[in-house]
Amino acid sequence: MIAMKFGGTSVGTAENIRQVCRLVKAEIGRKPVVIVSAHNSPSIRMTDTLAAAARAARDGKPDSRRASEAQRRLCDELGVDAAASGVDFLLNQFDKLLSGISMIGELTARTMDVVMSFGERMSGRVVNDVLRREFGVNSAYRSSISLGLKTDANFGAARPDPRCYPAVAKQISDIAADALVTTGFIAATADGQITTLGRGGSDYSATIFGAIVGAEEVQIWTDVSGVMTADPRLVANARSIPELTFMEAAELAWYGAKVLHPATMIPAIENDIPVLVKNTAAPEHPGTAIRKRISPEKEAGAVKSLAVMKGVAMITITTGRMFGAHGFMSKVFDAFNRHAVDVHMIATSEVSISVTTQDSAHIEPAAEAIRDFADVKVERGFSLVSVVGESMRGTPGVAARVTRAMADGQVNIHMISQGASEINISLVVDDSQVKWAVEELHREFFG
Ligand code: ADP
Ligand code: ASP
Ligand code: MG
Repeated sequence: MIAMKFGGTSVGTAENIRQVCRLVKAEIGRKPVVIVSAHNSPSIRMTDTLAAAARAARDGKPDSRRASEAQRRLCDELGVDAAASGVDFLLNQFDKLLSGISMIGELTARTMDVVMSFGERMSGRVVNDVLRREFGVNSAYRSSISLGLKTDANFGAARPDPRCYPAVAKQISDIAADALVTTGFIAATADGQITTLGRGGSDYSATIFGAIVGAEEVQIWTDVSGVMTADPRLVANARSIPELTFMEAAELAWYGAKVLHPATMIPAIENDIPVLVKNTAAPEHPGTAIRKRISPEKEAGAVKSLAVMKGVAMITITTGRMFGAHGFMSKVFDAFNRHAVDVHMIATSEVSISVTTQDSAHIEPAAEAIRDFADVKVERGFSLVSVVGESMRGTPGVAARVTRAMADGQVNIHMISQGASEINISLVVDDSQVKWAVEELHREFFG
């Protein structure tokens, strides 16, 4: 079996959905589990539209029309019967949910997950309908929720519970179809509350399903030809990377390369499943193959790619008594842990420790907890730029080239660190200098 995940842009227009169906049909012999995202194109940014409608409802203006008009238009273009396919039912439910939110005047993380789940649930039905009706594929649709995919109750960033996997696998194998279409991004808690894996989470769903069915390969179909040397939106001459190791891809994803959700590689690594990143619009392009080990002849240079994470905050904790005080670090990290602050970079001195994290509402409560025993300063407006490659480990001089490139480009480095794995070097720069920094580094390492 294989898992094929199609991102939002891949299912963003009628034409792209037909292309997706062609790709699925071509793989029918490998029993694909097809994981879809919500529609995403300039005319139908479904997840964003749903979230915006929910916020407006909370503020007293419930209005589901933007979402429903865009969704119905797409159904019309594809000849999908909105009533028979179940899309209408979901749109009605969504409309009622907005009324509820506006009546209560409150929008919790838990409700937001229900709101956003509608995107994938509609998209899955649409793709399955077109596969069956227009392409003659004997496919079936089940949402990941109805398949029994369970997570913890960390709404907005839930993590799967592997104990459910055997039962989900059984459900899937009991379905008599040549292809199973299911939803990315969403799941449910043990007691049935809908959860999401975090924005961009369908990539993670892809490898989770890959692990569940014991897939021989996970394919991630997107709008670029694989993982590239940098985000092509930041660097015009970024190019596709033929092969990456699991560790390189994990590092790139964790440090912000949006093409893969940060947690995507975890199930792939645990189950040794190769991941192929491909372009839906250019399937003939080989894309990027991600595996445990890669062929040495494909190993081009020590640095493989650059990742950028915007919206980074720096938290500096100072105490006069750090070195004498036993357990200081563990108290700090306990606070981060309790308040779900993911730390990306750490620098310490005798009296202070600085960490970086994605800017979020979790920071303030964590900072408050630490203020019980130390001084805390939170600064915002930074980006983290990471240089990643497994052969950096054995190649001297990479850090020197990084700092020289930054000096030449007059980019101010606030913090720099070589990851413990020695396969990445990360820098903190001002948001306003990030494009510049990445262009300089790209020139230095990729010409
Ligand atoms: P999908 O909807 O298919 O999940 P995303 O928009 O989430 O697509 O991810 C694909 C985008 O990721 C690309 O269009 C590109 O702008 C961005 N991106 C960031 N870093 C990289 C990188 N190193 N390689 C390729 N794409 C990247
Ligand atoms: N639709 C979700 C999002 O926009 C999940 C995904 O696209 O992967 O974040
Ligand atoms: Mg994505």
